[in-house]
Parts: sequence; C-alpha cells; structure tokens
Amino acid sequence: MVWPCPLPVDAYAQAGRLAGFPRPDCPSCAGPLVFWSGYRRYVREAGRCVRVFIPGLRCGPCRVTHALLPAFALACVTNAERSLM
Ligand SMILES: [Zn+2]
Repeated sequence: MVWPCPLPVDAYAQAGRLAGFPRPDCPSCAGPLVFWSGYRRYVREAGRCVRVFIPGLRCGPCRVTHALLPAFALACVTNAERSLM
C-alpha cells in the first residue's frame, strides 16, 4: 500500500522509523493493522539512490502483511512489492 508521504526523500531517510507513518485499516477486511517489522530499500531520487526504511503492516484477522510505501518510492517499485500492494 502507498501513503502520501509529505516529507522529501532525504528527510524521510533521516527520520528512519520515526517518519510519522500512518496506520491504515486493512484493505481486505478493514481490520486494524499493526506494525510488523519492515525493511530497508533504495529509492531513486534525482539520479541517486537513497536508502530508506519501509515499515511493514500486518492484519491480525487476515494474517496478511503489507509494505507501507511512501508515494515517492512508487517510481521504482519492485515486482515483489507489487504483489504486496
Ligand atoms: Zn484484514
């Protein structure tokens, strides 16, 4: 899933796990999602690569995990991530 991150890439990268992530409801069952680990990945920004933290979310009832991608990361979404969205 994607959220409209208000931060520029650099500020987001510096904020790390404290970037003020929203916690949306589950897109399948509208149940509450909880933060569930996460990972680091590179996003391309103005010709460079910036390493950012992508939090994971997990739905208790569905047991499905979602990656919470900032909108600026959409330009270089991997196939693996697409399957999570
Ligand atoms: Zn669910």
